[in-house]
Amino acid sequence: MQDFDFAIVGAGIAGVSAAYHLAPQARVIVLEREHVAAYHTTGRSAALHSETYGSAEIRAITVSSGRFYRKPPQDFADHPLLTPRGALIAGRAEQQADMQKAAAEYARLVPSVRWLDPAETMRRQPLLRPEAAAGGAIFEEAEDMDVAAIHGGFLKGARAAGTVLRLDAEVVTLERWNGTWNIGLRDGESVAAANIINASGAWADVLAGLAGAAPVGLVPKRRTAFTFDAPVGVDLVHMPMAIDFDETWYIKPEVGQFLGSPADETPSPPCDAQPEEIDIAIAVERIETATTLKIRRIKNKWAGLRSFVADKNLVVGYDPAVEGLFWLAGQGGYGIQTGESAGRLAASLALGRGMPGDIAGLGVSEAALSPARFTQG
Ligand SMILES: Cc1cc2nc3c(=O)[nH]c(=O)nc-3n(C[C@H](O)[C@H](O)[C@H](O)COP(=O)(O)OP(=O)(O)OC[C@H]3O[C@@H](n4cnc5c(N)ncnc54)[C@H](O)[C@@H]3O)c2cc1C
Repeated sequence: MQDFDFAIVGAGIAGVSAAYHLAPQARVIVLEREHVAAYHTTGRSAALHSETYGSAEIRAITVSSGRFYRKPPQDFADHPLLTPRGALIAGRAEQQADMQKAAAEYARLVPSVRWLDPAETMRRQPLLRPEAAAGGAIFEEAEDMDVAAIHGGFLKGARAAGTVLRLDAEVVTLERWNGTWNIGLRDGESVAAANIINASGAWADVLAGLAGAAPVGLVPKRRTAFTFDAPVGVDLVHMPMAIDFDETWYIKPEVGQFLGSPADETPSPPCDAQPEEIDIAIAVERIETATTLKIRRIKNKWAGLRSFVADKNLVVGYDPAVEGLFWLAGQGGYGIQTGESAGRLAASLALGRGMPGDIAGLGVSEAALSPARFTQG
């Protein structure tokens, strides 16, 4: 007998957003291996919502999610999910032509993107050294996300609509009989569900393998982040995040401190990623070269896996060969900013209702996200 219509594997942002959107219409269980939700990549992000980041589809899904995050349902969270930040992509003289081209491309979807000359670039980010501020593209509407509140809002809403959350529930076997998945857990128990939603982050190809599906070629890539004290007297509230045009470092102002990163993308097996000292040293060197900051002490450090397929788009849709296996993977560096609408479109496709009209209207097609794109030549 089927206990559930959908068993969602993974309680990161992808899993809980899908649960939130499915729960009012289906019987849902979320299975999470760890003893807390959001332990892996979701709990380790830089928390920026940027509508200029990623492929055309990623940007469109980010725009759509932003509409929800700016005006969530009343009981979703008791404070704003997004707060103003701004993002400045700056670079050196030799990058100027490419930067201007990129700025024009960003402005097509986000008209407020502006090109800044060197003086304006320095004015918006006075910590940059002149040689790293030969120009820049500013996106004033980039916002800080409250990731814990977003994740918590989805989970609370999903549970209120009947979703069961099971922690310490690692899926170790998947067998399908007569249209039902028999899902074996590490502790020996099992769950029966008509469909599986594969929201297992860096493990999505591994989980698909348990179901006998072909991999989509997901590559988890380690990204390192750390915090350090800001100099006294610097106005962090109105300072945008600064990102090098070639994405070799970034700094994001927080309360009293900066979050820094070498923007590394080191391929890794799926695991509990840990920061490497060498990556932190590289970031410190790059940030101190491009800015006047002196990083004397690393306060906190961590790493997480950003998992990409070859075209860096999301993978959303039923597996073309294995019945009842639905993919929600490939969130890369955009899983939180795309979270709401990725979950909503996943729920709609999983229920056989096609792409939601508002998301299709932003130029997102089912085919561009389908797992079938990896098997059809
Ligand atoms: C340093 C850094 C900075 C980032 N900055 C941003 C940013 O500014 N903006 C943004 O939008 N995104 C950012 N990201 C990316 C974002 O964090 C991810 O895209 C997103 O968190 C992925 O969510 P997920 O739910 O797919 O994966 P996860 O959060 O990793 O969740 C997957 C879950 O599946 C569970 N699981 C796996 N296998 C099994 C199994 N067999 N049984 C049961 N459970 C299983 C895991 O335990 C895990 O909890 C950043 C990431 C990093 C590392």
